[in-house]
Amino acid sequence: MASPAVSFARNNQQRFLNELKDLLRIPSVSTLDEHKDDVRKAAEFVAAELRRIGMENVELISTKGHPLLYADWLHAPGKPTVLMYAHFDVQPPDPLDEWVSPPFEPTERNSNIYARGAVDDKGQLWMEVKALESLMNAFGGKLPINVKVIFEGEEEVGGESIADYVRKQKQKLKADFALVCDTELFAPNLPTLCVGLRGLVYTEIEAVGAKTDLHSGMYGGAAPNPFFALIEIISKLKDSKGKVLIPGFYSKVKAPTKDELKAWKRLPFSEEHYRKTEVGSKTLTGEPGFSVLYRTWARPTLEVHGMPGGFTAPGAKTVIPAKAAAKVSMRLVPNQDPEDILKRFSDYVKKLTPKGIDTKIKVWSKGPACVVSTDNEYVRAATAAMHDIFKKDTVFIRSGGSIPIVTDFQDVLKIPSVMMGFGLPDDNLHAPN
Ligand SMILES: [Zn+2]
Repeated sequence: MASPAVSFARNNQQRFLNELKDLLRIPSVSTLDEHKDDVRKAAEFVAAELRRIGMENVELISTKGHPLLYADWLHAPGKPTVLMYAHFDVQPPDPLDEWVSPPFEPTERNSNIYARGAVDDKGQLWMEVKALESLMNAFGGKLPINVKVIFEGEEEVGGESIADYVRKQKQKLKADFALVCDTELFAPNLPTLCVGLRGLVYTEIEAVGAKTDLHSGMYGGAAPNPFFALIEIISKLKDSKGKVLIPGFYSKVKAPTKDELKAWKRLPFSEEHYRKTEVGSKTLTGEPGFSVLYRTWARPTLEVHGMPGGFTAPGAKTVIPAKAAAKVSMRLVPNQDPEDILKRFSDYVKKLTPKGIDTKIKVWSKGPACVVSTDNEYVRAATAAMHDIFKKDTVFIRSGGSIPIVTDFQDVLKIPSVMMGFGLPDDNLHAPN
């Protein structure tokens, strides 16, 4: 028999969906200035609902960027306190002409809602709010544990404000664990908890040759070209098999446990299906001897994202650019230290820089990998709750991406996160439809 809270949620599902659609209609794109008011509107929409269902101290917190949203309900003495996290901002919707239905007009097809943010992360945020409403209703206006809510509107643009806030408001946000709803199920109907995230060091190598752009007819043969310098450098950062060549890059890497590796082998995953449907390339790349899940979850990698500089407009211009840059990032795994990796990377780039060129390294972001322990009562409660609903055992997975706030919760607030998300692998999170 379902609990009264679950029954309430089931009986109100259509209303919950309609409310979610209203939230999805607000184009809260955090990276675009023209949507600044919409991000605030989304925050106000959620704030109003938190107030309506009985949450207290609901507060929109202004920041240098987009507002944060806080609320709490703290009347369960002796019971644990959860800090619930999600985000109400979304990625830009372009390319617009690839959408089957408009990104901010939620449309149902084959039992899915199509809209920007339907899963990342408004859908998941709304699940948290509706879980609170259902519990409040089932417990006569009370909650079974103490609850603090912190929602942000900057996740898709780096989450600087929440990182600051967590550092400044340790006492206010004090909790026993965090519930982070921004991940996915490994497969439809397969209860999943994410227990590991890779870290990230994102840099830009800036290369300067001549003091000004030069004509390749007059100076070609005498002037250094920063693009060739960058190509020389980049070609030596990784070998053709995918092994990163920065000295000492792998020295601190901590491998997953035997049990974890065994569990990954049991997951319903076909590398061939993944190649065809998710990657869509002729072949997969990466270090030999490691499975795809191992390579993307627990091996560090290095990628080049773009090389700004020189002439990129249609047509021809015979320029030897004075400056060029390469955006290079590294995904990190436990126990690689971002500072240490950044230093090894910088030293190596300096060493590889050819004569006549100056290189400088700009750092866009850096954060360590994080693996959360599964051996605590909060993870046990989460798996028990999912067993009630799915009637299946939970699988523990990692993610190749980064959720910096989870690291902050761990390092600053000293609390573990339960990463319980209900997205699906085919959700096209940051793409059309
Ligand atoms: Zn997200």
